[in-house]
Amino acid sequence: MSLRPTIEISRRGFLGLSVASAGLVMLPRRAWALQPAGKPAAGAQVAAKKLFEWKSLHAKAWAAIGQGGNTLVISDAGKTLLIDTKMPVFGDILRREAESTVGTLTMVLNTHHHADHTGGNHAFTKDLPLLAHKKAESRIAGQIDRYIAGIKSAVGDMTKAQPAERELVADDFKKLHDRMADLHVKDFVPTQTFEDGHELSVGGLKMKLHHFGPGHTDNDAVVHVPSLNLVHTGDLLFHKVYPYIDREGGATTVGWRASLRKVIELCDDKTIIVPGHGEVCTKAALTEQIEYFDRMCDFVAKQIKDGKSREDVAKMNPEPYDKYNTEWIRPITLRGIFEELAEKK
Ligand SMILES: [Zn+2]
Repeated sequence: MSLRPTIEISRRGFLGLSVASAGLVMLPRRAWALQPAGKPAAGAQVAAKKLFEWKSLHAKAWAAIGQGGNTLVISDAGKTLLIDTKMPVFGDILRREAESTVGTLTMVLNTHHHADHTGGNHAFTKDLPLLAHKKAESRIAGQIDRYIAGIKSAVGDMTKAQPAERELVADDFKKLHDRMADLHVKDFVPTQTFEDGHELSVGGLKMKLHHFGPGHTDNDAVVHVPSLNLVHTGDLLFHKVYPYIDREGGATTVGWRASLRKVIELCDDKTIIVPGHGEVCTKAALTEQIEYFDRMCDFVAKQIKDGKSREDVAKMNPEPYDKYNTEWIRPITLRGIFEELAEKK
């Protein structure tokens, strides 16, 4: 199955930012995929038309998959935490759908600075505390132009959406476009920061925010809720999706794998894992992500030994990962690995 046309919409159209500058990942399968009314999946609490696919993971946890990084909402005793706010244009509808699906939000958290996880922050920061790792703060503050560019191009691409989806977001897009000049750094940056091992309560639920050092970025947070046996990995896990390597943002495949080994220590075979991108999964996906980097590092090292250039390698599509999702990321992944290995020589 060719995903290219949809990917192009995700990448150049709706997503709208150049890949090189974006640091954004949107899965093609969910691009503009309206959730049908009246036929919710088993256990899902979908009653009306929604833009996002809301999955009930537990009586106290829901995930909204796609349209940027995966969002997790956790609720207990009248308190509700939302983790990751997707693309800038989706902030308002994400908040509306989260509050109608789960309940009034009381706190927001970003797993790292990338704009497909923090772009919607503007819809929350006026009245809610927003948490992120200490090192995310300056990076979020430094990407206001990226958020604005994302809004402009998404509005320009509205015609590519199906009428039903357009109806859901048209007002939000217009209002956000109209107030672009009024959007400032303060609308996106965290109001509270943390470092490794921070403990957080949502109602009676205790959770821990781990930072295991540089991996996908230099400010990754892993959210662990032991009593729900639930983990949000942020972008330390791209499940069946090419992992986006942002070296400028602090990515290192050595650190990434070390962080994943720490995440595995938090899990058993029943742990529900919400990855940064891809479908909800289990511990086996963490091992697969480590194996992906092990194999790709070996593969790229061999190409370097054989005299191949970075751009030669970027064009390759090595098995067994040649069918992973979001193929526009693959050359970025391979270039990132090439540069990291070349640097070590
Ligand atoms: Zn990311």
